[in-house]
Amino acid sequence: MTISDLPFDPVTTLLKINNSNQLFPVQRVFCIGTNYFDHAKEMNSKLTKEPTVFIKPNQTLTQESTIQLPSNSKDVHHELELVVCLKKGGKNIDKRSAKNHIFGYAVGIDLTKRDIQQKLKKNGKPWELSKVFDCSAPISSIEKLENQVIPNKRMILKVNKSIKQDDSTSAMIHDVETIISFISQNITLLPGDIIFTGTPAGVSKISSGDNIEAIIEGIGSLSLNFN
Ligand code: MG
Repeated sequence: MTISDLPFDPVTTLLKINNSNQLFPVQRVFCIGTNYFDHAKEMNSKLTKEPTVFIKPNQTLTQESTIQLPSNSKDVHHELELVVCLKKGGKNIDKRSAKNHIFGYAVGIDLTKRDIQQKLKKNGKPWELSKVFDCSAPISSIEKLENQVIPNKRMILKVNKSIKQDDSTSAMIHDVETIISFISQNITLLPGDIIFTGTPAGVSKISSGDNIEAIIEGIGSLSLNFN
């Protein structure tokens, strides 16, 4: 069988890399929920011993600066998150060697239809559809920091220049190495997998016409206009 035997073209999601002509081919997008105490508190979420993991399809990623809000939610929230990008996969990765799988990091926003999520939660249903919609995962270019764990980076998100989220990556409940190790115990990780690592407190509603600026110190920034 050759590639020309495919009935249609495979879809590849490619992300820009800072100061490089190379592009990063995304394999899958994992996300972590409830990974900062203050956010758990504002959401009334129970803390769990193990990380909460869900997936967004690759096609939710966007590096466009203009985003159309979905029409079937009146309460789309921003969730500023550090994204870790893997260059190497593995199964049952030891926490101590997890950093050797890291390609780099990016700034991501896990857009969430909060009204839909609350409704699904209340009914005991999976809340996947509150997370999965077009352009629900804006992401910056990747800062290549191979085999590195980044300690204590300030993360700030402003809506129309007013600060909404302001915390440090060191406030994570489950750190990056724990997350990589945990996911790999459940499914074999692959090169190109990326992981949104959860949001600090301060999530709030985005309205049409809003501008969002998001920065993680030493990693990158995003400026997004919402329609
Ligand atoms: Mg999130």
